[in-house]
Amino acid sequence: MATKVIKRKELGFWDKTYLPAVGRGLWITSRHFFRNMFFQTLHLFGLAKNFSGAVTYQYPEEQRPLSKRTRTRHRLTKREDGSPRCVACMMCETVCPARCINIVAKENPDPNIEKMPASFDLDLGMCVYCGYCVEVCPEDAIRMDTRILDIAAYSREGMKLDMEKLLNPTTSPADPNRI
Ligand code: SF4
Ligand code: SF4
Repeated sequence: MATKVIKRKELGFWDKTYLPAVGRGLWITSRHFFRNMFFQTLHLFGLAKNFSGAVTYQYPEEQRPLSKRTRTRHRLTKREDGSPRCVACMMCETVCPARCINIVAKENPDPNIEKMPASFDLDLGMCVYCGYCVEVCPEDAIRMDTRILDIAAYSREGMKLDMEKLLNPTTSPADPNRI
């Protein structure tokens, strides 16, 4: 097979100084900066709303809008009497690729329902947010729609959610149920 030799273009004097490339970079950055500043200033006075400037969210006071289907912190749904909808079928525990769900089943006092969880633990430190647990659940008992994304803890232990935290998620940062 014939080999095609490609000659590299020799760098000229100015190319070797890198000044043209640096100048081009500065020009592009400055153009974006002044354009965004110009439109953001107009927006302050209610003008040129059709032209967008780059947006900076003042996190954590201001949250970036999330898509409706964004998977966020899990929660367990409840029946009308407040008990968990979960019937401890173990399908979520089985499908979870990170093995971060741990359920202990017990008998349900309602004769129409066989089982319910005695404990339901989920380790967010291991979860990969795949959403398989939500998809596989036959009872719509687990969802990832709390809109809580800023999850942090001081220890691995602190990343674990028990049934109480899963049943009662809150968006208030001051709430101890929130991680
Ligand atoms: S989102 Fe995925 S990794 Fe996380 S608990 Fe559910 S199945 Fe497991
Ligand atoms: S799949 Fe649903 S009903 Fe089954 S154990 Fe998980 S949360 Fe409970």
